[in-house]
Order: sequence, then structure tokens, then C-alpha cells
Amino acid sequence: MLDAFLKQVLRGWSSIFLCGGSPADFKLAQQAILKYEPPNEHWINQDIAPEVAAVDFLRSALRQDPDCIVLDQRGSECLEMQLNAACTGHRLISGHPLSPAEAWSGFCNCNPEFSQVMVAGILQYALFLEVGEGGAIGVVHQLQVVDNQPRFVKLAHVRKGEWVALQDAIWPGPYQPPAPDYTPIEVPAEWGRREESLLANLRRLRRPRQRTTWAPRLVPFEGDNHRGSRYGGLPALRAGESWPRCQACQARMQLVVQLECQQLPEALHQQIGPGIFQFFYCISDQCSVAEGAPYAGPYAGNSLARQIETTDLVAPAADDRLESSHYGVYLVEDWSPLPDHPDWAETPEDEHTPLDYTEDWLEMVEGSSRSEGLYQRYSRLLEHFQVGPDQLAEVVSLLQNYPGDKLFGWPRWTQGVEYPACQKCGQTMEMVLQVNNDGEPDSRPGFHSCFGQLFASDGNGHVFRCPDHREIMTFVWACT
Ligand SMILES: [Zn+2]
Ligand SMILES: [Zn+2]
Repeated sequence: MLDAFLKQVLRGWSSIFLCGGSPADFKLAQQAILKYEPPNEHWINQDIAPEVAAVDFLRSALRQDPDCIVLDQRGSECLEMQLNAACTGHRLISGHPLSPAEAWSGFCNCNPEFSQVMVAGILQYALFLEVGEGGAIGVVHQLQVVDNQPRFVKLAHVRKGEWVALQDAIWPGPYQPPAPDYTPIEVPAEWGRREESLLANLRRLRRPRQRTTWAPRLVPFEGDNHRGSRYGGLPALRAGESWPRCQACQARMQLVVQLECQQLPEALHQQIGPGIFQFFYCISDQCSVAEGAPYAGPYAGNSLARQIETTDLVAPAADDRLESSHYGVYLVEDWSPLPDHPDWAETPEDEHTPLDYTEDWLEMVEGSSRSEGLYQRYSRLLEHFQVGPDQLAEVVSLLQNYPGDKLFGWPRWTQGVEYPACQKCGQTMEMVLQVNNDGEPDSRPGFHSCFGQLFASDGNGHVFRCPDHREIMTFVWACT
């Protein structure tokens, strides 16, 4: 019976929590569960080193985007991060030193902003197993959601060596993509009549704020070279300098981006300045940024953005290299200039409405297989905004704030506007580089993302620089 439960829960892509038991009992129970790892799946199963915070271990495991992450009993130290992981499509097998009911209430209380219904929605179908002596599993509970209400159900227990079923399990049905709904969207009555067509409005309001952003066109690179504009790989260093290390954990940091400024398109020379621009970020799973220094905040110490002007550049010594990185190396073949516009987060309120539809409108312009249906769906909105079919491309272009990896332009904000201030003069800094964290292989310029899960779950990070003190740069990230 237990066997069937475990197979079902893993098939349904849900999580398993092993509750109670001494550390030795727990280990035995965990080993028994690990036998269910399906072939062709990527599970991360390592003990969390005592000096590493559980939350840092989990964050670093997520960077590898595994199918399942196995945590020991210290998993109970990072319940909120476990919910984040489950939310972004990862299964967990995690220990909890207390009872199933206490593990469940731990999840519900790990963040006061999470309601019980919300937590249940994330962990739905998860099994909570009671671990007894010798690692034997004696009781199975399941988190079910019925009529939108969570309930914690005891499915079965062992009596006199035999499994006894107590209540029915519930498993997710096979995934069925929802049928597309192309019913036309009604224009809300309170919108009234627009005096100005959307295109005229956008030309007036957004075109003056247009900036050129530069999206990299990349080619995979396998060599051992340290020069050239690149994402990942070896950095060029000053003669005598060693590979930059994280101030928090002393590990060598991943080279995220290196730009040979004078090889960039001519139009960028003035803006970027001379030399080599580099951005490094710590990806060590041993990394713990000191308390009070937020990971995501500026000047956190686990990243380095700099521009070096010396021409005497060398490769890192053979014994001074990043120990391991699962990120690829790409050379920048060329840069595509794109007209970029402010994110809705820094756009006045009354300009928001058309932005909500940008992605779908873009699809209509690009003529995907859904286009016809989308035209029908947006017909009344397009009429309201007075957008003719031949104007759609320009409308979409004026609404665009590119989400992918890019140089200059306007930041795509994930959690609201967060321009940092210069440490020296206090003025608002400017964005130099946007690093998208989704790992999106989208090949359209301005949508591609080289680094998945570099700093946390989906979102964007930005390197900023003071307009007057070019040596002062900092990195800030936010995720969903
Ligand atoms: Zn570090
Ligand atoms: Zn300054």
C-alpha cells in the first residue's frame, strides 16, 4: 500500500515529508524512499553541511533546476523556501523532526502573509509520513484540498504488521491543457470613449522616453580563452591578480558577463567608457551573506561589478579557476539594438491598461497559430483603443520593455522600482546591465536569458552605476 502511495505522489509531481524519528531512523526511512527515484530524472540528494544554512543549500540546489530535491531533517529550517521551490515546479523530499501535524502547521506559519489555503494549494497531494523505530513508516497522512478547503487526512496506518486503509487518497488527474478561450473581452463601461487613439497616445507619451537597449546575439563557446565579450567562462584579469572571490564566503565567483568595451558597437563607446566591464556573482552552495546584508540588496558582498582600464590583461592561472559551474559559456557575436521603454512599474497609472496585453498583442504581430483566435478575443479592445491591424506592430514596440539579458535601456522590474543610490554622492544610479534569471532559451533578441536560477527563482538582476562615479557599481536583484 505504501508502495502505491509513493509511486502515485511522485507521478503526480508532489512532495513527500518524513516526520519524526531520531536522525538514524530518519536516514533509514529516507533511503527506502530514494528507491522510488524514476529513471531519467534529476534528483539532488546531498547532506546539508553543518556550516551551511539550509536555505542557502536549497537556493543553490534550485540553480540546477532539478526534478526533485532531497533535504534532511534540517529541511524544517527552510520551510518558506521549500514552498517557493514547490511553487516553481520542484518536488521535495524533506525531513521534519516533529509530527506530521506540526510539519503542516510549520508550513502554514512560516510567513504571516501566507494563508492556509494558499499553502495547501502549493503542497496539495503531498504525503506526510510518520517515521518510527528503525526507519519504519507507520502512518501516512495526505494534504488534500476539497472545495477549496485544505484538510489533513490520515490515509492509512500499520496495525499488527499490516497496512490498514483508513480514508481514500486523492491524486491529480492527468494534466489537460485548458481549451483556449477566444470569447471577445468586453471593454469595461467605465473606460468611456478614448479621445485619442492608443498609437497617438503612445507616440506622445512613450516615444520621448525611448532608449536603445542592446541584446546579445550569442554563440556557444568551448575554448579556454579569457578575452572577448562573453557570458560565463574565464575572466580576463590584471597581471598578478587572482580570480575575484566572494566577500561573504571567500569562494571564487562565477563570471556572469564580460564586455570588451571597445569591441561593442560604436554607438555604445561613449556610454560604457573604456576598458573591460565585468560582473561576477557567487554561486557557491556554501555561501551565506552576513546577517543584515540582504542578498538582493546593493553592496551585499557576494557580487562584483567593475570596469578595468589596464591593457595588460592575463588569463587566470591554471590552479586559480572556479571549481565547478553548470552554466554554459557564450561569446557575444553581435548586439541587436532595440527600442526599449519603461516598465509599467515606472509608468504613470493611466498608461497601464494597454501594457497588460503586450505579450498577447506581440503574438498577434508575430502571427503564431493562436493569432486568429487572439484577434477575435481582442477585437473589441482594439476597436476601443482605435488600433488598426497595420498599427499593431508599432503599438507593441512602444509598449515593449525587454525582459531578457540586455545592456542599457530600461530595467524590467520584478518587485517594483528599486534604483539604488551611489555610496559616494547619493544620487540615483543608472542601469548598465540586465541579467534575466529565468534561463529562458527564447531566441528572439531581448527575450533570451543565459543564466537560470543564478540568484533565486524567476526574476531579474541589474548592475547599476553612478552617472558621475563610474567606478561605483552595484548589483540588485528581485524575484517573483
Ligand atoms: Zn559567497
Ligand atoms: Zn556618485
